[in-house]
Amino acid sequence: MTASGPREKCGVVGVSLGDRASARPLYYALYALQHRGQESAGIVTHDGFQQHSHVSMGLVGDAFDEADLAGLNGSVGIGHVRYPTAGSVDTSCAQPFSVSFKSGSLGLSHNGNLVNAAEIRDELAGLGHAFTSDGDTEVIAHDLARNLLEEDLVRAVKHTMRRIHGSYSLTIMHDDTVMGVRDPEGNRPLCIGELDEGYILASESAAIDVLDGELVRDVRPGELVILQPDGADFDAYQLFERERSAHCFFEHVYFARPDSAMDGHLVYDVRRELGRQLWAESGVDSDVVMPVPDSGRAFASGYAEAAQEEGADVEFAEGLMKNRYVGRTFIMPTQDARERAVRLKLNPISDVVEGRTVTLIDDSIVRGTTSNQLVQLMRDVGAEGVHVRIGAPPIVAPCYMGIDMATREELIAADRTVEEIREEIGADSLGYLSIDAVAEALSTSRADLCLGCVTGEYPYDIDGETTDRDVERPVIGGGAEAAPSDD
Ligand code: SF4
Repeated sequence: MTASGPREKCGVVGVSLGDRASARPLYYALYALQHRGQESAGIVTHDGFQQHSHVSMGLVGDAFDEADLAGLNGSVGIGHVRYPTAGSVDTSCAQPFSVSFKSGSLGLSHNGNLVNAAEIRDELAGLGHAFTSDGDTEVIAHDLARNLLEEDLVRAVKHTMRRIHGSYSLTIMHDDTVMGVRDPEGNRPLCIGELDEGYILASESAAIDVLDGELVRDVRPGELVILQPDGADFDAYQLFERERSAHCFFEHVYFARPDSAMDGHLVYDVRRELGRQLWAESGVDSDVVMPVPDSGRAFASGYAEAAQEEGADVEFAEGLMKNRYVGRTFIMPTQDARERAVRLKLNPISDVVEGRTVTLIDDSIVRGTTSNQLVQLMRDVGAEGVHVRIGAPPIVAPCYMGIDMATREELIAADRTVEEIREEIGADSLGYLSIDAVAEALSTSRADLCLGCVTGEYPYDIDGETTDRDVERPVIGGGAEAAPSDD
């Protein structure tokens, strides 16, 4: 996927490093998570007495200079990279969110999206809480701060988890204690790593690798992990247990780095396996198999390998070159410029394509405009035939869990058959992967995945949409339902 693909909302990290300063390790970890958010970056540390914060718009490399890092004192801290889907695009919504309450200082980094943030915000505003942003992370911070006035850390977090509904992986810093929380369905990823001097919590294991650490394990759905302030160990509390999880399958297909391990699987291996399944389900004879860079690569190599194992006379070739300096902010004032955008981003090597049939492999089709332009580009440089194979099922519905995808009206597959999409993008044939193949590659059942965007049925209770399970939406507004229990 290229020009206007789905965008991950955020990456989160938290460290506790004993005697060592946390700013630079957090900075490196955010670099490793840059693909999860390019709008803003931030770090909040604690030196045992007070918080230090630096949050800025832009890429990690632009958001911090030496002086910024030098001012972030302390051996514990949390960090965040963000692309906003809830809340406005300015520094008031950039994260980590940090604030001092009567109950102590709090910093919060959030990946995901709450579906009942407005209700909790209204209730807390009615109780006198003043909000400085329109994002849902501040809602979680205020709720937690309120609970911390009367409860210990574990009970306060559990109380807040009972009230918030939706997807969240959080790193939280309360005074000098860093914690990680994953929502009871485990929709967004979060893992624990061991470093030489302490422990790290991060959205993806690539952030652990960059610090020469070892992946310990994923944070479990519904689990709270507290890093000890001296960096010696961590404590884990299983606060909620659900019969089914709702891992976002799209993390494996598209968002996560291929070198990250997530929920027990190396993402690269999953993508190659999905490519193999794609050949098994809808393989087509062609002269050359070609990935749409970058994320189509692992799918295409698995697809070509499976084809060659079955005796197909097909070459795997990188025939589309990506210009990595064309950013999202490319200005496209006219239709002509918009059409040129794909050519600026992706240029075919005509010798690889000319006079041959090509199978283009991509990870997904959202609006269809890029696919249409790529097929046309292949024909322009002399392809005799162009087949398209997609390493995911058709996206038929939007995401409400923190992925910037598109509205239902914009999604090409929302109201078209595969044959109609094929016609629209101008390919000779088109094949998608089945949902069962995705579940098989992840060695899980469909019941434990979020499949909202490919089925239109969601694991959370979302206004105006159907759900694929029994979900209990928390009742906000005091009373027995809002009180914590010991279950
Ligand atoms: S709707 Fe799709 S993109 Fe969103 S969380 Fe579910 S699987 Fe992931």
